[in-house]
Amino acid sequence: MWGTMNKRIEEALASLCATHTLPEEEYLYLLQHNDEESRALAAEYARTVRERFYGKDVYIRGLIEISNYCKNDCLYCGIRRSNKDCFRYRLTQEEILECCEIGYPLGFRTFVLQGGEDAYYTDERLEVLVREIKKRFPECAVTLSLGERSRGSYERLYAAGADRYLLRHETATKTHYEKLHPAEMSHENRLRCLNDLKEIGYQTGCGFMVGSPYQTKEHLAKELKFIEAFRPQMCGIGPFISHHATPFSAFENGSYEDTLYLLSLIRLIHPTVLLPATTALGTIRPDGREAGILAGANVVMPNLSPQNVRHNYEIYDNKINTGAEAADGLADLKVRMEKIGYCVVEKRGDICTGEL
Ligand code: SAH
Repeated sequence: MWGTMNKRIEEALASLCATHTLPEEEYLYLLQHNDEESRALAAEYARTVRERFYGKDVYIRGLIEISNYCKNDCLYCGIRRSNKDCFRYRLTQEEILECCEIGYPLGFRTFVLQGGEDAYYTDERLEVLVREIKKRFPECAVTLSLGERSRGSYERLYAAGADRYLLRHETATKTHYEKLHPAEMSHENRLRCLNDLKEIGYQTGCGFMVGSPYQTKEHLAKELKFIEAFRPQMCGIGPFISHHATPFSAFENGSYEDTLYLLSLIRLIHPTVLLPATTALGTIRPDGREAGILAGANVVMPNLSPQNVRHNYEIYDNKINTGAEAADGLADLKVRMEKIGYCVVEKRGDICTGEL
């Protein structure tokens, strides 16, 4: 079947499987030759590796979008502070706990609290919240995704019981970072945060958008080297999707095929990484999340936010929101996963430390 295939691609993928590293120029070569055959071979290897550690399990994370207030002005993001058309909301502690109460009996064993950088959520408030979630649901993991904070803040939240932290680095290239963010934000601080989180002991997630404005294949090759070096426990990638009320409204969306290929390559670089088939991937294609799983992803993050606020957490246009209640949304996801031979499981889904 691979008879006509480019030898250099075949060799690079085989070598990546065996050693989990490649020179940057080989990553670049792979990315420049992203055709159907290369993608299919990478995905086949990625599934084999993924199944060695995680079988057919798909871990679910209940995503609770706690606030869309944000002090930042990231040029790509729909909830940036300059977007005056964004209706702002924040959930109370009681509302967040209610989301967990709904999610637990459905089988969620990880709750992800995500939001803009909202000053209301002080360390004190978050500590109380994290402690309460851990008290009510001791067997569940709490993941935070609340942006850049001080090391001291990350330490306090870890001490309060938070297990994981998601903070996409967005791009590994400083000059590219500066094109995506206003001058008051810095690549150094983003990386400082990631290093602090890892040192403190969080299971740490980094990640980037695929096809963000001004991104080149050379940038993507650097992303892969970054993941090799940082070895995050989690890695979130999804296509850039333009939002109508941002400076990037006229840019094209990231490529579906590139995203799938990168998922496979990331799985081969880091066999045990927790790798979500993201909502953004499901937004650009109706069966995007299934395709993501088939490319080597092993996590899906269904939305557990209250129905009446979901449409306000619009970081990009047309973000999937079926209008279904959490239970119906999950039932639909389970069917989708079963159809492709995978199984949603009721587990915390920590990173695997040994073979099955
Ligand atoms: N404030 C938090 C959470 C941000 S939202 C933080 O800083 O980590 C989570 C991720 O959504 C971002 O890290 C970004 O990579 C992604 N995102 C934002 N806008 C997007 C867009 N227009 N298209 C695709 N992904 C986007």
